[in-house]
Amino acid sequence: MARVLVLATTTGYQTRAFGEAAARLGVELVFATDRCHLIEDPWQDHAVPIRFYDEDASVAAILDAARARPIDGVLVVGDRPTVIGARAAEVLGLPFHSPEAAAIARHKQRTRECLRHAGLLVPWWIPIALGEPSALPPGPLPYPCVLKPVSLSGSRGVMRADNEAELAAALDRLRAIVRSPDVRAERNEAHDSALLEGFIPGREYALEGLMHHGDVHVLAIFDKPDPLDGPFFEETIYVTPSAASESVERAIAEGVARAAAAMGLGHGPIHAECRVNAEGVFVLEVAARPIGGLCARSLRFRRILNPQSAIRNPQSLIPLEELLLRHALGEAPTWRREENASGVMMIPIPKRGILRSVEGLDAARQVPRIVDVQITAKMDQRLLPLPEGASYLGFLFARADRAAAVEDALRAAHRRLHFAIDPEFPVLDMSHIHYNLHHG
Ligand code: ADP
Ligand code: CA
Repeated sequence: MARVLVLATTTGYQTRAFGEAAARLGVELVFATDRCHLIEDPWQDHAVPIRFYDEDASVAAILDAARARPIDGVLVVGDRPTVIGARAAEVLGLPFHSPEAAAIARHKQRTRECLRHAGLLVPWWIPIALGEPSALPPGPLPYPCVLKPVSLSGSRGVMRADNEAELAAALDRLRAIVRSPDVRAERNEAHDSALLEGFIPGREYALEGLMHHGDVHVLAIFDKPDPLDGPFFEETIYVTPSAASESVERAIAEGVARAAAAMGLGHGPIHAECRVNAEGVFVLEVAARPIGGLCARSLRFRRILNPQSAIRNPQSLIPLEELLLRHALGEAPTWRREENASGVMMIPIPKRGILRSVEGLDAARQVPRIVDVQITAKMDQRLLPLPEGASYLGFLFARADRAAAVEDALRAAHRRLHFAIDPEFPVLDMSHIHYNLHHG
């Protein structure tokens, strides 16, 4: 039985989806997960416990486990373990992105340097040391600009500033974010560094791809139809196919392929984001991993017809997880996304507070073309919006024959959902206390 090592940041839906895909393929999975994230999960029985911040020990633990249960392929989901996965793959002699490329992909300044060196479009940028009191260079700066930590993800800590006062406030806010307990727990020195860069106007796209021995195979180009102009950059709707013209799509694919090559990414999943305007395609980042968590559910694939598979199972659609497992085991990407348009909405957290109730779930599910509604926030959970936060309320999924219908369905379903969010520090309610001042 073939065995695939899966390095996962969190458990839950994504590991379960890989478990199901593996069961269908008759493949065994060996999970390696940060011990801090171990939660009860049927697929986690024999997980290799590692510490993402301790790369050497993590790689050693994986190699140790691989002696008892030989590994045939490596998959990494989530940003943090990409370098560990790449190092393990290198020692095991399995094709994967190089450790150096994975490290560059996790570091926004190193990514920028690579892209500039390769002659790709990049904004101006200045490195900022967050530990120092007056980290800004003297003299006027061109506005608008964007301040961002070099190694966080999900737009956490990314802020636009239109003038000096906004920039000073953003800098204070970012310092507080990188000092928060969960960021400190990552023990990543990169979190003391930020980038200040030019704001790139334009439309934004995401490209989901699979690199196969140096070639980029495009799995999907997503439109992000909500304008992302700041001051914070919350992801909301992803919909594919993109409404962009064929020539823009080609330019996006070409820009991402050049960026991936410049960074040294070579084999395995990539998730890239870019902004496009009259100047061209600005690749913001290329992550050495697939699209995150639940969003993967928006992608299904059909084998590009070949006689063999047509006879076996002409109609079957497979989820992204199955495609990734097949690829990790050496299969060339001979799949293309289904004919339907598809999309997901990451439901933003509208305000800080405590989640008390969610209403309208059934109504949202009844919206035509909505295929699933998943609320991932837990009741009584403390909610933190961007730029401090790092999560969503949940996810809406839709499929239709056209992308515009997918987008409409997602928005209609979202309108039917109502989240009751109480203030974080409840004011003491004294209305039931009767002061009887007339006695005694
Ligand atoms: P993260 O890794 O946290 O996702 P990104 O660098 O991808 O960080 O930035 C998150 C979002 O912020 C982007 O998707 C984009 O919408 C916005 N953004 C980042 N940098 C810029 C920029 N220079 N100009 C305009 N928007 C930007
Ligand atoms: Ca991003």
